[in-house]
Amino acid sequence: MNYISTRGQSAPVSAAQAIKQGIAPDGGLYMPESIPALTADTLKELCSLSYSERAAKIMSLFLTDYTYEELLSDCKEAYGDNFDGYAAPVVNVGGKARILELWHGPTCAFKDMALQIMPRLLSRALTKTGEERTALILVATSGDTGKAALEGYRDIDKIKISVYYPVNGVSRAQKLQMTTQEGANVNVCAINGNFDDAQNGVKKIFGDTDFAAELDKKGYFLSSANSINWGRLVPQTVYYISAWCDLYNKGDIAFGEKIDICVPTGNFGNILAAYIAKLMGLPVGRFICASNSNNVLTDFFKTGTYDRNRDFHVTISPSMDILISSNLERLLFLTAGAEKTRNYMVSLAKGGKYTLDAEDYGKITSEFVGYFTSEDECRDEIKSVFDEHSYLIDTHTAVAVSAADRYTAENSDASGKIVVASTASPYKFASSVAGALGLEICDDDAKVFETLSNHTGTKIPAQLSDVLTKEIRFKTVIDPADMKASVIDFIS
Ligand SMILES: *Cc1c(COP(=O)(O)O)cnc(C)c1O
Repeated sequence: MNYISTRGQSAPVSAAQAIKQGIAPDGGLYMPESIPALTADTLKELCSLSYSERAAKIMSLFLTDYTYEELLSDCKEAYGDNFDGYAAPVVNVGGKARILELWHGPTCAFKDMALQIMPRLLSRALTKTGEERTALILVATSGDTGKAALEGYRDIDKIKISVYYPVNGVSRAQKLQMTTQEGANVNVCAINGNFDDAQNGVKKIFGDTDFAAELDKKGYFLSSANSINWGRLVPQTVYYISAWCDLYNKGDIAFGEKIDICVPTGNFGNILAAYIAKLMGLPVGRFICASNSNNVLTDFFKTGTYDRNRDFHVTISPSMDILISSNLERLLFLTAGAEKTRNYMVSLAKGGKYTLDAEDYGKITSEFVGYFTSEDECRDEIKSVFDEHSYLIDTHTAVAVSAADRYTAENSDASGKIVVASTASPYKFASSVAGALGLEICDDDAKVFETLSNHTGTKIPAQLSDVLTKEIRFKTVIDPADMKASVIDFIS
């Protein structure tokens, strides 16, 4: 199966090539030229398999230049001992929501689900494409991708990684996780600006052909670990299918029964991965796109206009503080095709906005609905879910649970069971979560962890308490304009 650009002006490439390159030469994102079908028989078979086997099977439908054996061996390593137990359990906490816990990996956020496997896919892609240069991964992060990528790529042969985060746009735990990262092939740098500044900086470097030539002379080429890379999305499609299987196995849903899916959304990668599962044939009703006060997507689904010209808010769910949701381009492509997608993107680049035509708007809103949650509502949701169900959720998950609640209230005839993606451990945003519960908070994370644990009877993840005592290795703060220089510095 070949991969084509959402903007239609690049040559088709293999899966290995798409994973290696990250972004297409015409500035578009790679998509499989067709979406493989998940037949009822295959779905039934998947239900009887382990998580790693499900992952290998589903990924092999997309990554046809990888063998099933290669994928299975990689998945067993990726989703084995580095997860604390089952990789993606679904928990029924009462009510209609089924919580899909995606944070049992090494960095306590759902990014691990993709970034534990993707370095293995890239490593194989280098061999498959006969690459002799070293891959240089540049990552812009709103906090969670950075750490998950550093952990996934550390000390992997023929790969180096440099991560850029907004200096005041990540939680204390997130910052510490990144600045204490170990590994000989890693670099971490704070940016004076917000996430979009960091992401734009990285995108600019990717589009700079002179710079690419300079890197090539030094024996490097650029690659990406952000969710613009197809290698990030395909492992994410897996857990929605796996969640459906687990609900079926538990007798919670009948074979063929539709679920709705609600996802706390930033770059639109995670929810797009869910939509791809539906296009494959997974029984899904609606997709509920949950946003925080950076509600550009809520407005998009309500009005058909995507308009990034608005104030940027720093919130207690920082991984969703994004005004340019890159993966929305893939939804446009799936809905409207390459030519119209290109036009929408030209208009976004020029004036910061575009408006869907009636046909595209109708198609998209038959699948997606958007809600946003204010900071106060988010805190209230954390408290009420804990008070009513003794279940602790983080700020991002709370935004989604709140959206799912409202969707249920407004659609009494809706199919019913909603799988809500829970994207981070509550300890990753411990101060905000403890504050929402009315607990005492302070600047000492160890204390906040303990308060939270004592009050809620939940366990402090060792991955997070460990970083509190580690040496800080990376202290540099730069302007977005100096990112290129920092890259050269890193590889020199
Ligand atoms: C990255 C992230 C999100 C947003 O996911 P997208 O794929 O960018 O939409 C939500 N919650 C958490 C905790 C995250 O780390």
